[in-house]
Amino acid sequence: MFGLIGHSTSFEDAKRKALGLGYDHIAQGDLDVWCTAPPQLVENVKVVSAIGKTIEGAYIDSCFVPEMLSRFKTARRKVLNAMELAQKKEISITALGGFTSIIFENFNLLQNQQVRNTTLDWQRFTTGNTHTAWVICRQLEQNAPRIGIDLSKSKVAVVGATGDIGSAVCRWLSNRTGVSELLLVARQQKPLLELQSQLGGGRILSLDDALPEADIVIWVASMPKTLEIDPSKIKRPCLMIDGGYPKNLGEKFSGPGIHVLKGGIVQFFKDIGWSMMELAEMENPKREMFACFAEAMLLEFENCHTNFSWGRNNITLEKMDFIGKASERHGFSAVGLKSNIQTLT
Ligand code: NDP
Repeated sequence: MFGLIGHSTSFEDAKRKALGLGYDHIAQGDLDVWCTAPPQLVENVKVVSAIGKTIEGAYIDSCFVPEMLSRFKTARRKVLNAMELAQKKEISITALGGFTSIIFENFNLLQNQQVRNTTLDWQRFTTGNTHTAWVICRQLEQNAPRIGIDLSKSKVAVVGATGDIGSAVCRWLSNRTGVSELLLVARQQKPLLELQSQLGGGRILSLDDALPEADIVIWVASMPKTLEIDPSKIKRPCLMIDGGYPKNLGEKFSGPGIHVLKGGIVQFFKDIGWSMMELAEMENPKREMFACFAEAMLLEFENCHTNFSWGRNNITLEKMDFIGKASERHGFSAVGLKSNIQTLT
């Protein structure tokens, strides 16, 4: 059985969803009430893959909302309690979605293996980052040519290059995709220099210096909401792949020749009888989902019950090959630009 741990995109949204699900007492509570609310297993689902393999899974809402991010103890408790619930339900492999994997890593929850009388078994969980990185690379390879960008001549800026997803994307693009140049963007210099040396290339630039040079920008960092960018400094055409969470780049960049694509989102080949992706505000919630969620499904389809994506900067090209092949075989495809795009060269 696979599991997905998720959360609503805002407190207001969470209250609306809780009402819809019949949890009236929680729905009417204020944020303090929500801070004490336990995780809920809200849905069970059966999924049949493109090659006829059937799996079962469950969606657990952690009852976390982004408004709790500043409450360190609450955020930590929400994620650990949801993981404990997944383990108690004997779910073999569970993906940490949305902010839950960020909280797990940034708050170093590896130190909190004991939750009441449950010892969390890390083998049962995955961040889903290997599949996310692979999907973002596919989105680049498939969509850049559609807007007139020749990959062999393109400069690709990776914002968040030293992160778990960003470093995997850099490794893939320099080894497998044959782009002209990688522009490496992050704040800390030491990890950037280490990455550059591992890649045997790539140019380290600030965000301001990288953007005017880039034909393609991959955003795999949670950027501050206050980030201001002058669209006149961006190349046309430019492909922007918004791999961060939450996905808010579409609001910042617009204009002819700038194409913003929701990064790390996949589509299943047929409708899935669940309503859980409505909680994640997918455009086509019966088919679309975060690639990290799909990773848990793929590991279940493949009987690969292990923490496939775990820790930081452990994603190898071999792992990306494995999960990418499984993704295509079982009926997932990377979400692309809308078909009515206008090319401006
Ligand atoms: P990491 O924490 O491993 O990496 C974050 C990276 O971003 C680091 O390179 C960090 O380097 C850089 N960074 C952070 N802030 C800034 C900034 N202000 N300017 C420039 N660089 C910055 O994160 P992950 O790789 O695990 O995840 C990356 C993003 O992808 C997150 O936003 C996450 O939510 C999202 N994600 C999306 C998924 C999906 O949509 N399917 C699934 C999983 C994750 P430094 O600190 O040196 O700046």
